[in-house]
Amino acid sequence: MKANAIKEIPQSTPAFLIDQDKIKKTLHYLQLLKERSQCQVLFSIKSLPLTAVMKQTLSVVDGFSVSSLFELRLAREVDRGDSEVHLTTPGLKVDEFDELATLSTAISFNSLEQYRQFRPLLNTAVSPGLRVNPELSFVADNRYDPCRNFSKLGVPLGQLAGQLPQGIEGLHFHTVFGSDSFQPLQETVARIEAQLSHSLASLKWINLGGGYLFDSEQQMEPLIDLIVRLKKHYQVEVFMEPGNGVVGASGFIVATVIDCFVREGKTVAVLDTSVNHNPEVFEYQRRPQLVEEVPDGEYSAILAGCTCLAGDLFGEYHFDQPITLGDRFTFCQVGAYSMIKSNRFNGYNFPDIYTFNDSTARKIKTYDYAYYRAQWLT
Ligand SMILES: *Cc1c(COP(=O)(O)O)cnc(C)c1O
Repeated sequence: MKANAIKEIPQSTPAFLIDQDKIKKTLHYLQLLKERSQCQVLFSIKSLPLTAVMKQTLSVVDGFSVSSLFELRLAREVDRGDSEVHLTTPGLKVDEFDELATLSTAISFNSLEQYRQFRPLLNTAVSPGLRVNPELSFVADNRYDPCRNFSKLGVPLGQLAGQLPQGIEGLHFHTVFGSDSFQPLQETVARIEAQLSHSLASLKWINLGGGYLFDSEQQMEPLIDLIVRLKKHYQVEVFMEPGNGVVGASGFIVATVIDCFVREGKTVAVLDTSVNHNPEVFEYQRRPQLVEEVPDGEYSAILAGCTCLAGDLFGEYHFDQPITLGDRFTFCQVGAYSMIKSNRFNGYNFPDIYTFNDSTARKIKTYDYAYYRAQWLT
């Protein structure tokens, strides 16, 4: 479907739309990756734990990657208990551990301290792994760099002194975001091989994490070579666990202009959505991509959200015609980390959720006052 036709789909706005043809295309590349490298792929559901999407991915993926008990329960509801589910989190809790260990197939411990604490409680059905911090940074902004100084994520490779603790069956790392190049992965694996060479052969699996995009067979060639080599050399299963790479480009938020005025010479257009439907816009002061933007257009406007926060703004955009009340706008590339982080600040509702493909569109979820009331009524 043409990007500028997507805004015609929702009956009312704001609406969150998922393009299932786009997911299908990505799944096609993941299928190719699996066939050519014999790796296993898990969908990291923290990016968008929408069961319609989880079910769609199950046609190709081997299971899910989760970070908490609730994600794990949802994963098991969707897969009916029969796929690979890997858990890693700095947030393991004693009172949840039995259920976590019963429902997951592998747990990558975030520290040696937690591995020692929980090892006596492990049953034989769950494979213990260790999350390592390869101490190689590829992300410029340290707010999302797991390899930053004093990182809380994973055991620094240097601290392991070439040895993995007794009983560890898997190695896990996750260090990049939104990378369409596999060069960071090649460099990271080279470093791990140099520092843990003797221990790798004793492993059953390596989980290479998420953070990568899968856009063409040609782009994946270096990845395929890497996985084939790892599997052959160390006789290990290899896992990848993309989230954003599966759903990021498939998501859209459609909103309508509900007010428009001029302030100090600039046009301000208020939309019926807000940064609370895509909180990373505010958290990281990011300007989201807009389908209707014409970068050298002669008209410009600041697109603003409808809440009482002065900084609830998406940014200034250019267009080839003036903005009028009732215009619809479409934010794109918002499939990951938008809906899951959204909130009802000011009492503004969540968007309706739609799925669509080339032939049909379906409203799959609407939230009404009862959801809001259930959250806050004490
Ligand atoms: C968030 C996360 C992922 C998925 O990352 P994307 O950037 O969404 O692909 C995978 N593994 C771990 C450990 C994560 O924290």
